[in-house]
Amino acid sequence: MRILITGGAGFLGSHLSDRLIEQGHEVICLDNFFTGRKSNIQHLIGNPSFELVRHDVIDPFKFEVDRIYNLACPASPPHYQYNPIKTMKTSVVGAINCLGLAKRVKARVFQASTSEVYGDPNVHPQPESYWGHVNPIGLRSCYDEGKRAAETLFFDYHRENGVDIRVIRIFNTYGPRMLPDDGRVVSNFIVQALQGKDLTVYGEGSQTRSFCYVDDLVDGFMRFMEQDKIVGPMNLGNPGEFTMLQLAELVLKKVGGKSKITHLPLPSDDPKQRKPDISLAKDVLGWEPKVPLEQGIEKTISYFKTALAQ
Ligand code: NAD
Ligand code: UDP
Repeated sequence: MRILITGGAGFLGSHLSDRLIEQGHEVICLDNFFTGRKSNIQHLIGNPSFELVRHDVIDPFKFEVDRIYNLACPASPPHYQYNPIKTMKTSVVGAINCLGLAKRVKARVFQASTSEVYGDPNVHPQPESYWGHVNPIGLRSCYDEGKRAAETLFFDYHRENGVDIRVIRIFNTYGPRMLPDDGRVVSNFIVQALQGKDLTVYGEGSQTRSFCYVDDLVDGFMRFMEQDKIVGPMNLGNPGEFTMLQLAELVLKKVGGKSKITHLPLPSDDPKQRKPDISLAKDVLGWEPKVPLEQGIEKTISYFKTALAQ
């Protein structure tokens, strides 16, 4: 198949490009390089199955494709809050452009939605049936509400125009090719520990997250895209739940060195807990994550050791 990946030069998009090309597909990677990097896809340049297009998803585009994975959107809080109006446009106008293209060329279209649609959840763990607890006017709203509006658009295009959609809600995912200055917690802690700096735990560090290794997630993406039972939304993530203090201690244990833990103020609207209910993914896809946190952290540390040395 010919497959368009918006945000294909980013962390998740570049891993997805690798896997799809390994399976014999052709990939068109569309990216404006806001948080994506050519280095993530350098090894694919020159491969006849790979095309790179520098383009912004908010400007219309047209490709004859069979599948569209819509991943274009900064995912890290510092990056999506850098230009919140642009973040909202990327989510909403980007979704409209992908859906319009899917409608025209009859492609199946996948939306990389997020656990942020649950906000600071009152239901724990979060099943897909939970409607969420989201602040509509806070610092995180450009991302959370942008992704919620994108989900709405996906389901309206599906109901009104019969567009063949797939919607995934991704819980915190980590691994090689995150930017050293990405700002998300796993890369922050590992880079800080490798540089001998103190690990910046926001607040007391009692808030929880569930961390999925990138290979597991991408496997879930592809299984979900190619099944015909449901259109979603479907949670994908690792249900192991850890406090940020536990994560910091694990990183310190694995990296060694002299770094300590330091506390910084908790950002506003920071969700207190998050853990996916993945029963649906287990039932429909026979999918569950295989890489435990400790092992995934080791692989990510090895990646950053090399990346920081270059
Ligand atoms: P990332 O920041 O590494 O990748 C996003 C990519 O989109 C980058 O290559 C960036 O340059 C590109 N991009 C941003 N705005 C664009 C625009 N207007 N036009 C074209 N390209 C644009 O982040 P990621 O972790 O790879 O996330 C990929 C997708 O998955 C995002 O939509 C994100 O919201 C979603 N997601 C990720 C996670 C996670 O934990 N990694 C969790 C939930 C949802
Ligand atoms: N966090 C932290 N130190 C950091 C970066 C993040 O303690 O250097 C915390 C953050 O406050 C949040 C959790 O780690 O509670 C996950 O943050 P991240 O930005 O990775 O993802 P999100 O909040 O979007 O789930």
